[in-house]
Amino acid sequence: MGNELSGKVAIVTGGASGIGRASVERFLEEGAQVVIADINRELGSTVAAALGSGVEFKQTDVSASGEVADLVAFTVARFGGLHIMFNNAGIPTAMRANFLDDELADFHRIMEVDLLGVMLGTQHAARHMAENGGGSIINTTSIGGIRAGTGELSYRAAKAGVIHFTKCAAIDLAHHGIRVNSIAPGAIVTSIVSTATAHLPDSAEATRRLREAMKSIRPLQQDGTATDIANAAVYYASDRSSYVTGTVLPVDGGIVAGHAMNT
Ligand code: NAD
Repeated sequence: MGNELSGKVAIVTGGASGIGRASVERFLEEGAQVVIADINRELGSTVAAALGSGVEFKQTDVSASGEVADLVAFTVARFGGLHIMFNNAGIPTAMRANFLDDELADFHRIMEVDLLGVMLGTQHAARHMAENGGGSIINTTSIGGIRAGTGELSYRAAKAGVIHFTKCAAIDLAHHGIRVNSIAPGAIVTSIVSTATAHLPDSAEATRRLREAMKSIRPLQQDGTATDIANAAVYYASDRSSYVTGTVLPVDGGIVAGHAMNT
């Protein structure tokens, strides 16, 4: 499509599916070399093989510091550097009708993947970037980290943490030439919806209802796609955003702006 990322090397965590996969594809189209980092070995290897040259897969659990360090070392060894770190991997809260039924183990895992994973990806990437002329770090948060609401309390808290962490890291790392920004997707149709409802006895119906609810709160009528988020990631990854750091960009069809009701 273009050469916005020509000569750059990127890591995309959660790159085997949904927003991550679409971002890998867009980064490749813009001339980057990309490492897909994902906990799902089978899917990650299949996607990397399907996308052809300029892409590698490295199985990684973003919540394990040693694995993230290995991921950065692997990328630098394979492609000769690291300029873009897209900390995108994330998991939803298992949806329960009542917060009082939320389980402690779920809370810990959400924090480990959705918040600690972002922190580790930022730190390990920044250690390399600080010694090598800087770079761009992009973190996936959620509109749930901006707006309060019922349900998914630990997910919302982790994603709010990502926004504040992003701002602090942007300030902390600016003098190394490292920019840190976040993207807040909203109502994008990916497999994350079925993951959130997988534990429910009527999971297919719950997934359908959730997708309908996502549609009903959106001012823009069209479905949001993973590529809409990937396009925002290309902007943050490229030199077009060279004076932009510490920001959060909702890509959500207008949900954060307000309700699509004539009130
Ligand atoms: P997805 O389920 O399609 O993709 C998530 C990917 O992350 C999967 O490939 C999964 O294997 C991987 N992953 C999960 N745990 C991991 C771990 N510990 N280490 C490495 N990889 C791991 O979902 P998606 O919708 O593409 O979600 C991507 C990001 O966007 C997530 O951070 C999610 O919270 C965020 N998000 C999505 C939406 C939406 O509407 N889809 C809205 C707000 C935020």
